[in-house]
Amino acid sequence: MFPSFSRLAAAATLAGLAACSGPSDDPASATAAPSGEPASGHVLIENARVFDGERDLGEVTLVLRDGVIERIAEAGASDLPEDAERIDHRGRFIIPGLVNDHAHVGNTAGTEHGDRFYTRDHVVRDLRQFQAYGVTTVVALGMNGEGFFDIRDEVAGDPALGAQLFGAGAGIGAVDGAPPAAAMGLASDPVARPADADAARAAVRAQADAGVDFIKLWVDDLGGKAPQMRPEIYRAAIDEAHRHDLLVAAHIHDLAPAADLVDSGVDIIAHGVRDAPVGDDLVAAMQAAGTGYIATLQIDEANYIYAEQPDWLDTPFLRNALPDAVHAQWADAAWREAKLADPATRGFRDALATNLRNLGTLREAGLPIGFGTDAGALPHRVPGFAEHRELQLMQQAGYTPKQALTTATRDAARLLGFDDRGLLQPGKRADFVVLSADPLADILNTRGIEEVWQAGQRVSGPVADYRAE
Ligand SMILES: [Zn+2]
Repeated sequence: MFPSFSRLAAAATLAGLAACSGPSDDPASATAAPSGEPASGHVLIENARVFDGERDLGEVTLVLRDGVIERIAEAGASDLPEDAERIDHRGRFIIPGLVNDHAHVGNTAGTEHGDRFYTRDHVVRDLRQFQAYGVTTVVALGMNGEGFFDIRDEVAGDPALGAQLFGAGAGIGAVDGAPPAAAMGLASDPVARPADADAARAAVRAQADAGVDFIKLWVDDLGGKAPQMRPEIYRAAIDEAHRHDLLVAAHIHDLAPAADLVDSGVDIIAHGVRDAPVGDDLVAAMQAAGTGYIATLQIDEANYIYAEQPDWLDTPFLRNALPDAVHAQWADAAWREAKLADPATRGFRDALATNLRNLGTLREAGLPIGFGTDAGALPHRVPGFAEHRELQLMQQAGYTPKQALTTATRDAARLLGFDDRGLLQPGKRADFVVLSADPLADILNTRGIEEVWQAGQRVSGPVADYRAE
């Protein structure tokens, strides 16, 4: 159902790491011939209780080498490498690093947003924050500036810089439509906006040649306020992307374009359907095509929840993720009153309720569901915090903590064809988060981040010490 992932595999390769090594691969191949980075030598993470993305393994020893998990040994195993660095994590809990299938980077500064902020330093700032919050893979699904490709390569070679970055380049939108250039602050609009099918194919070819990991489309009439990308344009773009072995993720808000995109062969619906319940027809069509789905529950809630001053607003876990200017805005009574009085707020509440209901329907139907938030696109979509809030909201759609975590790790990786991560198994990347309490008992325990490891290196933690820039 999906194109092959040769391009992804190439992009995912970190020096010394074997990308896309599945569990059946010879572990030796995963550790062969490091070309310099990261440091070689064994590391043993002992006595932590490990959730591998699918199963609770109990207390085991993770044997790391050259950025990957070489082996998972029983606690107290006697045949462990003697030269290893040993770290005792008794009483702690380990989960795979979270995978965000739909985020944005380098789009904000304080309470402002726009393409003028897309610099290497702002992108790395966001990737570092995602990483500090346990998100070790970030897919920037559009609105990336020209520097995207260099930054992606730089971060892939140095995990300490931040979460590993993938992305859709600038993405492909509608002429005079979504993404709305004025509202998104796109002064020198990087988004391709093809006027016809030939231009759509040319835009996909140009982005494929530039080296994007995915193709992003926006198909949304913005509540009837803007022209929506026409079907012949997105059908041509999808076909051309598949000729280039690229997955296509489409932004939608409403049921009708979602249904036609599924019919057009889109690979991923990149937001939840928020105007109407998904019906049996769409569920059946998605099942037949194997269409993936990313709900982004938090996106609508973020438009009003902070103005409501929930009792968790001043918890350090959220406060530390906010630039001072954003915190000051949210503390301003006049700003809060204006937000809550805005007639649009009711629509956002309704959208979240519909999104939750539809996610429950699609989850029960067994569709491939990924994990995303749209964090980073606007200042109130807070990188790192948004993902933990999303996990919490997923429970309202019927997810247990274990199911939510599986979605945010194993399934989020699978959705995008990343077979080198999302699970803690021999041959997979050593991307994981060390927690102080059991996340399977209470999803809020994902917030007790003591350490973050990426590609076998301890790169961040504890999250309590993190401060946003
Ligand atoms: Zn987005």
